[in-house]
Amino acid sequence: MQRYIVIPHTEVNLSSWDPNEKSNFESGKDAGKLHLLDLNNQLMTLQETLYAEHKHKILIVLQGMDTSGKDGTIKHVFKGVNPQGVRIANFKVPSKKELDHDYLWRVHNQVPGKGEIVIFNRSHYEDVLVVRVHKLAPVKIWSKRYSQINFFEKMLSEEGTKILKFFLHIDLDEQKARLQARLDDSNKQWKFRKGDLDDRKLWPEYINAYEDMLNKTSTNHAPWYIVPANRKWYRNIVIGSILVSTLNKLRMKYPDPEEDLKGIIIE
Ligand code: AMP
Ligand code: MG
Repeated sequence: MQRYIVIPHTEVNLSSWDPNEKSNFESGKDAGKLHLLDLNNQLMTLQETLYAEHKHKILIVLQGMDTSGKDGTIKHVFKGVNPQGVRIANFKVPSKKELDHDYLWRVHNQVPGKGEIVIFNRSHYEDVLVVRVHKLAPVKIWSKRYSQINFFEKMLSEEGTKILKFFLHIDLDEQKARLQARLDDSNKQWKFRKGDLDDRKLWPEYINAYEDMLNKTSTNHAPWYIVPANRKWYRNIVIGSILVSTLNKLRMKYPDPEEDLKGIIIE
């Protein structure tokens, strides 16, 4: 899955990243779904060890256009994982109180503690995406944020946080189909926001902003992965595999018991 990593300081041109790509799993959708079950099981065990060991902190950042599958990723990749020890932080339009503070204030408050996995559903990156595209802050403010974010993430990493960032890459046609599905299905209509259509019109501006984000904020300690996300099953496999291999590399183990348990008899 290393092919999806954004090598620091390289130029990303999203038009040359195919959102339909599926070269790491050619056996098709049905086999892909079975493979995901296997990844789910591995993730369950790894998360349990992470929680028990109480040493590492895992931060997963999900970003992508509307309908790119951030919610679906959480639902499917983390299926079966013990909710104790996993937390989702959703970043919506900031409240008045949040806007009264710097943009990292609400974010820092949600980062993982020891033994915890935290998934950011949107993140501080909105402050160089929607804020830039909708001109919610002047250029001289948001343009400084890339290096501020790099420093922030470096600090988190040096303090023991493992950071993985996923950009869910879909194209305009796929977004159209997913928005249409939300309109047509009464069980999905609650997800439809007219405002999403305004953002859809700004697609090229968002692509620009995403490219800058990927170019400036993929680092060795907090890399971005560009996930081909037109196919939901493939997206899940890519993210699940990267998580499993990253957690495996931490060589975690259950902690030793507090004292020698040999010879203890429970009456
Ligand atoms: P959703 O993720 O679909 O529930 O929508 C959340 C909305 O909040 C999106 O339209 C985001 O662009 C918006 N949002 C998130 N963070 C910010 C931010 N820092 N400033 C302005 N809008 C934001
Ligand atoms: Mg939305």
